[in-house]
Amino acid sequence: MKKVLVTTVPFGTIDSQPLDLLAGQKGLETVINPIGRRLTSPELGDLIGDVSILIAGTEPIERSSLERAAKLKIICRVGIGLDNVDLECAAERGIKVTYTPDAPAPAVAELAIGQMLNLCRFLARTDQDMRQGIWKRRMGRRLATSTIGVIGAGRIGSRVLRHLSGFAPNQVLVNDIVSIDQLCSETGATFASKDRIFAEADIISLHVPLDASTRDLVSMPQFEQMKSSAILINTARGGIVNEADLLIALQNETIAAAAMDVFEQEPYEGPLRFQDNCILSSHIGSCTTDCRFAMELEAVEDALRHVRGETLHNEVPMECCPP
Ligand code: NAD
Repeated sequence: MKKVLVTTVPFGTIDSQPLDLLAGQKGLETVINPIGRRLTSPELGDLIGDVSILIAGTEPIERSSLERAAKLKIICRVGIGLDNVDLECAAERGIKVTYTPDAPAPAVAELAIGQMLNLCRFLARTDQDMRQGIWKRRMGRRLATSTIGVIGAGRIGSRVLRHLSGFAPNQVLVNDIVSIDQLCSETGATFASKDRIFAEADIISLHVPLDASTRDLVSMPQFEQMKSSAILINTARGGIVNEADLLIALQNETIAAAAMDVFEQEPYEGPLRFQDNCILSSHIGSCTTDCRFAMELEAVEDALRHVRGETLHNEVPMECCPP
C-alpha cells in the first residue's frame, strides 16, 4: 500500500468526492492530518516518513522534512502559493510538485473587494460599536471616489481589476513585474510604479507571491509614503507586509486601516488583534465552497494521475523553481 497524507484542513468536508476518489484507487491508504490544524515543520517531519503522496496545505515543507521522506514521490499543493515548499530540495530528490493555480482566484478576489467595502464603510467597526451600545454614524468613502492601487496583476489581481471596473473608481493604479498592457486597456487601469501607488492610493490591495522580491514589500518606509487616510489589504501572504511596522503605522495613524487575511505565523495570535483599525480574518481567502472543492478535487486528480502514470495537469512550471 502507498500512503497518502492529507495535511491541509479542512479536507473533504464540503463534498466527500476528493476522499472518495482516493479511497476508490486500489493500493492507496489515506491518512488525514491527525492534529487538525496547520502542521509545524517538526510535526510534518514526524508524519512523513512512510508517505508516498502528500496532499499539502500551507504548512512549511522544508528540507528537514523532505530528507525524512524516503518514499515521497509527489507533493500536490491544494492552492497556488509555493512559498512554503522547498522546491529546490524537492527537485533534487526527484519529488514532483503540483498545485491548483486557478481554483482559488475567484474567492480571493471577492474577499479583497469585500474588505475594501468593509473598511471604506466601517462595517466591522460599526457592528462592534453597536454591540457596545454605541450608535455612531461614521462617514465613509465610496470606491468611485477613490484611487485604488493593485500590486500584482496575475490570476487574483486581474480579477480584482475587472471587479473594480464595475465600481468606476476615480483611478486604478496597477503594478506588476510583467507586461500588463492588455489588462490595463481592458480594465481602464493605469500601470504605475510601486512608489506611486504607495504615495497616491487611497486603497492598496496586494496580490503578489511571497518571494525574495516581495518579503517586507510594505514596511515602515512604505507606510511613511502613504496617505494618512490610506487603507491596506493583504490577502496574499504573511511576510509581504511587515507586521511589526504595520502595528506601529496603525497605532500612530500613519495609515487609517488595514485588513489582513494572512500572517507570518498562522494561526495568528499577535497584537494586531487589539487594534480596532485592523480587520483580521483567518486565511479564509479561498474558503468558499466552490473554490475549496475545486482546489481539493484538482489536487487529488493530479495525485491519481501520478499513481496511474498519466501526464500531470498542474505540475509547477520550471520558472517557479529555483535554478
Ligand atoms: P499569480 O502567480 O497568478 O499572480 C501573481 C502576480 O504577481 C504575477 O502577475 C506576477 O508577475 C506578480 N509579481 C510577482 N512578483 C512581483 C513583484 N515583486 N512586484 C509586482 N508584481 C509581482 O498568483 P495569484 O493566483 O494571483 O495569487 C497571488 C498570491 O495570492 C499567491 O502567491 C498566494 O500567496 C496568495 N493567495 C492567497 C490565498 C488566501 O487564501 N488568502 C489564496 C490563494 C492565493
